[in-house]
Amino acid sequence: MPPRPAGMVLGWSPGFCASSIEKSGDEIVGVHTSAGFVRTDTVICCAGAWSRSVGEMAGTALPVTPVRRQIAVTEPVSVLPERFPMTLDYSSTFYFHREGPGLLFFGMSPDEEPGFHTRTDDRWLSGLAEAVSVRAPALADVGIAHTWAGLYEVTPDHDALIGEVWGVSRFLYACGFSGHGFLMGPAVGEVVRDLYLRRQPFVDVSAMSTDRFVAGATRSELHII
Ligand SMILES: Cc1cc2nc3c(=O)[nH]c(=O)nc-3n(C[C@H](O)[C@H](O)[C@H](O)COP(=O)(O)OP(=O)(O)OC[C@H]3O[C@@H](n4cnc5c(N)ncnc54)[C@H](O)[C@@H]3O)c2cc1C
Repeated sequence: MPPRPAGMVLGWSPGFCASSIEKSGDEIVGVHTSAGFVRTDTVICCAGAWSRSVGEMAGTALPVTPVRRQIAVTEPVSVLPERFPMTLDYSSTFYFHREGPGLLFFGMSPDEEPGFHTRTDDRWLSGLAEAVSVRAPALADVGIAHTWAGLYEVTPDHDALIGEVWGVSRFLYACGFSGHGFLMGPAVGEVVRDLYLRRQPFVDVSAMSTDRFVAGATRSELHII
């Protein structure tokens, strides 16, 4: 029998996949994983775009939807200085910044269907080219070296879910960052540590609880990128 950890963070360990959470009544007693059964009384869901299914394992609703977002990295660009600020066009969500000798281009397709697909496509590139030609025409002819896609983990109000589910002991969550999880990561780590230890976090995160959807008190993240 593996040692019983104090708590278990799902989403933290590469190649380690949880398939179900075992409960006795409302108490968590362990997690079934690709590495066997792990006895624990606490689960912290940090499973990004996959958080909805982890919530379901605990019998709780984490309204997180995966949505593909795409990136293009250009050939070397010499028409811009080596260092310049990340530049964002709020009207189209097109932004760019240095990526080695080239640039990294981002832009959201407004009609992207939710799902776990992460293949890049040419339709997105032509939308991107349009935004580039309007906002940064000097870059319109820059060649694309490669593209990639990843998943945003989107909530109904495009804001993060951070808190603890009271009906299940103990199930905490920090997910649904809706495309700004890197930005929030360091602070969220400290907050979740404090929630786990039942200490007052340095910032009040009660508004980030999933309760806001029940109470009709959703937040409004207007400038999500
Ligand atoms: C193209 C693109 C650009 C972005 N740009 C920015 C940006 O400029 N600034 C910014 O702040 N954010 C940005 N983001 C968003 C940022 O990447 C995410 O918000 C952040 O990575 C979320 O971190 P996370 O730890 O919550 O989830 P993830 O990094 O997705 O990690 C979740 C982990 O959970 C694991 N997992 C899933 N299911 C299970 C399971 N059942 N058991 C165990 N583990 C499981 C997964 O394998 C994964 O490793 C961007 C995202 C994309 C796609």
